[in-house]
Amino acid sequence: MAIERTFSIIKPDAVAKNVIGQIVARFEQAGLRVVASRMIQMSREQAGQFYAVHKERPFYNDLCAYMCSGPVVVQVLEGENAIAKNRDIMGATDPKKAAKGTIRADFAESIEANSVHGSDAPDTAKLEIAFFFSGSDLCSRK
Ligand code: ADP
Ligand code: MG
Repeated sequence: MAIERTFSIIKPDAVAKNVIGQIVARFEQAGLRVVASRMIQMSREQAGQFYAVHKERPFYNDLCAYMCSGPVVVQVLEGENAIAKNRDIMGATDPKKAAKGTIRADFAESIEANSVHGSDAPDTAKLEIAFFFSGSDLCSRK
């Protein structure tokens, strides 16, 4: 299995709950390593651009406003099969449907305020990492 990098956001609801450490611990326990991390307050423009793929969806404006409602942690996770592994640890988009023991089942408030973002494929991982980080921000953990 290949070593991959994926992009992750700890969203405003989880930062407000003060569970950054608990969430990062789950990634680490699953064998993923943080290779870049930063706390930011997103602008409306940044959120709009980041979620542009959902522009036509009815929840787009609310989602963008929510993502700017407080600080978030943007990070890059590295490890074997990191993209799918991160999605497994996160759980389903709707916390009511998320499997027991997943981040969203344990911490999320709603389908919108669902604690974490994770890239869904290699091409989106690459784009999303580059959206927030430059090459020199990424550290080698080997
Ligand atoms: P995921 O984050 O699981 O990849 P999507 O890419 O489908 O989910 O959606 C992006 C984000 O938009 C979700 O994480 C959630 O914050 C929000 N969202 C998705 N579906 C809805 C919905 N039906 N109502 C409100 N917000 C939603
Ligand atoms: Mg998605």
